[in-house]
This record gives sequence, structure tokens and C-alpha cells, in this order.
Amino acid sequence: MDDKFTLYNLKVEVVATDKPMVCRHKEGAYFLVIGEDLIFPETNSFSMYALSAILPLLPAKQRPLHANDWMLSDSLIACPDPNCGARFKITRIETQEFSHAECTIEPIHKGDKQ
Ligand SMILES: [Zn+2]
Repeated sequence: MDDKFTLYNLKVEVVATDKPMVCRHKEGAYFLVIGEDLIFPETNSFSMYALSAILPLLPAKQRPLHANDWMLSDSLIACPDPNCGARFKITRIETQEFSHAECTIEPIHKGDKQ
């Protein structure tokens, strides 16, 4: 049985603005999202407060979205510190196929709403 599904792999990168960064963000620092994994390059650090603001958006950005969905158009996330100018850009980098059976033991319900 074909149980494959496709997700986008993501790159989340620190982007500078004209407002100074007050946290320890480094412009260009990034991590990747592949399936359920966050992959941090060895030389990069990433603010846990910024990560907390970004995490809820990642599963949606991994999935195909309606063309009118704001979750598709909005890809620049602000730092949760209101005095900090950093932004975090979420970019879809490519698609990757996954197997349902390798992600869960729950059965596929063909009648579920998508
Ligand atoms: Zn910040």
C-alpha cells in the first residue's frame, strides 16, 4: 500500500532589519527543518526565545497550503523581544517524501477531512 506523503524541507534564517538586534542573534545563522528534525549547523547558535516564536509555524509551512492562506504568504517572523530588530525568514527549500508507517503507528483513515 502506498503510504507516502510529501513535506517541504525548510530553512529558518536570521535576517537583519534597520532596527538593531538586542539579542545575540547573528545575521545569516540558520537551522533546517527536515521531517520532525531541527538540524543546527555546528557553528550556529539560536535563541531559545526566538525558537519558541517560530516553532508553532513550522508544521504548517512544511505542508501544501491553499493559495489564499496567510500561512503561505507570511514567512518573516519577528523576534519576541519587542525591542529587537531581528526577523526570522522561513524558506521552503525542496520537497521530501515520507512514509506514514515510519511516522506513526496510527492507521490511515481515508475518510478523514484534509
Ligand atoms: Zn531578538
